Amino acid sequence: DRLISANLMMEDQAVELSLRPRYLAEYIGQTKVKENLTIYIEAAKMRKEALDHVLLYGPPGLGKTTLSNIIANELGVNLRTTSGPAIERPGDLAALLTNLQEGDVLFIDEIHRLHRTVEEVLYPAMEDFALDIMIGKGPSARSVRLDLPPFTLIGATTRAGLLSAPLRDRFGVVSRLEFYTVDELAFIVSRASEILDVTIVGEAAAEIAMRSRGTPRIANRLLKRVRDFAQVRGDGVITHDIARSALELLQVDPMGLDHIDHKMLHAMMTTFSGRPVGLDTIAATIGEESQTIEDVYEPYLMQIGFLQRTPRGRIATDSAYAHLGLPIPKRN
Ligand code: ADP
Repeated sequence: DRLISANLMMEDQAVELSLRPRYLAEYIGQTKVKENLTIYIEAAKMRKEALDHVLLYGPPGLGKTTLSNIIANELGVNLRTTSGPAIERPGDLAALLTNLQEGDVLFIDEIHRLHRTVEEVLYPAMEDFALDIMIGKGPSARSVRLDLPPFTLIGATTRAGLLSAPLRDRFGVVSRLEFYTVDELAFIVSRASEILDVTIVGEAAAEIAMRSRGTPRIANRLLKRVRDFAQVRGDGVITHDIARSALELLQVDPMGLDHIDHKMLHAMMTTFSGRPVGLDTIAATIGEESQTIEDVYEPYLMQIGFLQRTPRGRIATDSAYAHLGLPIPKRN
């Protein structure tokens, strides 16, 4: 797996648990999302009602799971966690729903991957806190309605566009998580260092932040690697020099690009001479899945202005040429 992948890796799990903020006040950045949620949570608590259903979307590693833990924590309720592909049959979801207590939060990660038949169980559950169960078969079959305790569904997805309209419409709060700024990531790195009990200078935290693709998960992972380097090559303190040489050794460039990003941009610039290239062609060239490129790698490259999607295909921008030190082609 790529070191700069935003997807959860085995090596992240233990560290992420200890670094995960538990309250809104510890959750860095995403100001607008946080402000809105603070109000909705307060209001729900004052009315002693379940919070409206919340849809969180955005690239992986930006804090969707963390935020749903925080929401349950701030509400003082239980959190049940599952994911779209894990719920195989309507009965699995019914079992989850009937086990909820009043006000609980049910978190469904990758909600865009729910099976159609399972999704249909969710509609009345979300709208009326009810479960429709079919009893019997054939002409004598009838539907019985079962009441559920009021609960909050939090759905997370990297692809809001893939949600069906009836599902999307049932979320009262829809929040998009944005990539973090370098300052925010530097703050996250400093806070993580404190928890991990390692000394880091400000410039080093900023250096790691710059190369973390706007993503806290990557920032924490890079910090862990740099910490190892500081222990072996230095006296444990993460100085600016240590951070820079570690990250160079790890082949993460100053913009957070790795050799595969370079390979992809290079191919677009040389093999395809800067002409628009289709996603599948790029995928085949660098040996990655089209979907991974589209969901995980492209959003960051577009965010930093290195890649543009045009109706005829993807093109690398002038800044990408400048970053790779290649001559900018004449465009017409
Ligand atoms: P997602 O569910 O969007 O893939 P996670 O919620 O699992 O992302 O976040 C990955 C890790 O990044 C968390 O374990 C946490 O340590 C860190 N993290 C995410 N968002 C924040 C934040 N706003 N402030 C501090 N740390 C964060």
